[in-house]
Amino acid sequence: MRKSTLISLVSLVICSCGLVRAEPNIVIIFTDDMGYGDMSCNGHPTLRTPNLDRMATEGQKWTSFYVAACVCTPSRAGLMTGRLPVRSGMCSSKRRVLFPDSKGGLPAKEHTLAEMLKSRGYATGMVGKWHLGHLPQYLPTNNGFDSWYGIPYSNDMDADHERIKEVNATNGRGDHWQNPRSEYWNVPLMEGEKILMRSPDQELLTKTYTERSIEFIRANKQRPFFLYLAHSMPHVPLFRSEKFKNRSTAGIYGDVIEEIDWSVGEVLKTLRDEGIADNTLVLFTSDNGPWTRFKTLGGIAGPLRGGKGSTWEGGMREPTIFWWPGSIKPGIVHDLGSTLDIKATLASLTGAELIEEQRDSYDLSATLLHGAPSPRKEMFFYRGVELFAVRHGSYKLHYSTQSGYKNDRVDYEKPLLYNLDMDPGENYDIADENPEIIADINRIRDAHQATLKPVENQLEKK
Ligand code: MG
Repeated sequence: MRKSTLISLVSLVICSCGLVRAEPNIVIIFTDDMGYGDMSCNGHPTLRTPNLDRMATEGQKWTSFYVAACVCTPSRAGLMTGRLPVRSGMCSSKRRVLFPDSKGGLPAKEHTLAEMLKSRGYATGMVGKWHLGHLPQYLPTNNGFDSWYGIPYSNDMDADHERIKEVNATNGRGDHWQNPRSEYWNVPLMEGEKILMRSPDQELLTKTYTERSIEFIRANKQRPFFLYLAHSMPHVPLFRSEKFKNRSTAGIYGDVIEEIDWSVGEVLKTLRDEGIADNTLVLFTSDNGPWTRFKTLGGIAGPLRGGKGSTWEGGMREPTIFWWPGSIKPGIVHDLGSTLDIKATLASLTGAELIEEQRDSYDLSATLLHGAPSPRKEMFFYRGVELFAVRHGSYKLHYSTQSGYKNDRVDYEKPLLYNLDMDPGENYDIADENPEIIADINRIRDAHQATLKPVENQLEKK
């Protein structure tokens, strides 16, 4: 063989390896209402999460990673589109998420992660909770996913109120949360656009979602694939399969998290067993903070203040791990990141084009691959359609605060300022000493608000 032929052959091999590497498989594991503190590796004293802990050691754990909103629907819209939900009409201050009587959903003109990756030849599969519209035109299979198996909204919807009233009259108030039975909720289990059944056995959800995900990975291992595994748990009502019952000293919630941790382990094991771990980027995070009104049936936000529904850190800062053996630089990242950034990051990693205005999405790939500083320097905290707070660098300024589900709103004449690096619990207001920082953040807010255009509200359509 001539030397030049050999060289071109070698470069062809290198090139094609490069190509494989340029188009990694993508897996996003998204939990529902899991708190920042609900992993052993984030300091939970009793929860056991060995698979997440190992994933964090092998990958990058982010400690200032935010979701786009503090409740399900707008948070998911932000992840799927890379745009703040206030731009797509997928948030509301009146109806904070979509309900079974809602007529709205993710507008067709929004370009989803699945549509973007599908245009790059990816197989796209979704398993689990959607919550971006349950009418046919809004379902995952009309938003870029080849397949979908799961529940279109939250697992506590379509409640059988009569039945629940009876049960609580007999066994005491709140019994349907403490001792939930699948038949109390008539939620549909769907495949594509078809309803398979109502009131599926919720004890099997985590297990079945996991099995479906593994089937999808095995069926598509020869080509680039995108799997979006959106667990229904640990959103109340809490369910876990037989094997996980009464295992955790952290109660039912602990059992549920341990089953999710098992699920993560199974997905990563499958990637390893199939020999595609080195070519697969996995992201694990949650859609919003813990539902603290459910007390021990909800999670914990660790050192952070507040929970689901609020713009305190506990509502929007999530337990987050990126994993991609051999490519991601292992470590802990304190810089800012957001689910909004997944769009630009995946576009960069897969060579996809960002086809619409993506000012809310930053490419985190240099941080993931090389440990470079994150390009995200600010974060906007919306409650419904209103901007309640802005973070810039270490500082967060609250213009208004309200806990998740109480009428305790305060609009501040003089906003509250916290240094989140020194004071992650948002305990010590330092506004008086820092007028320049407040002026800077006010300018960032004004510039941001000047980019907003009125849109049709999707959550208020009935
Ligand atoms: Mg949620």
